Formats: sequence, structure tokens, C-alpha cells
Amino acid sequence: MSVNATCPRCGNNRVVELGTPVIRIGKTRGLRVKVKECVNCSLIYYEKYET
Ligand SMILES: [Zn+2]
Repeated sequence: MSVNATCPRCGNNRVVELGTPVIRIGKTRGLRVKVKECVNCSLIYYEKYET
């Protein structure tokens, strides 16, 4: 699925969203994030999920 986003490394806007998992912070907290992959340079990064 292609999303409206820009790669923070190469500036390409062909970015796909891989999913929205919950990552764990310490033992009790979790944070839902959006995981994205740049089609151009293969950078995988995530950002805070906001509804
Ligand atoms: Zn990139």
C-alpha cells in the first residue's frame, strides 16, 4: 500500500506502509507506530501512529 509520505533519507515519496505494530517501551508500556519502507533506498523507519 502506497502512502503519502517522504523518505527522511533520500526524499523520495514512493513509500509503502508495512503495518502498524505496537512496540514495547520497557516492561509495561507500548506504543503503536506506523512502519514504512522507502521503495527507492530500502530504508525502513517508523513514526508515531496518530489517529
Ligand atoms: Zn529513501
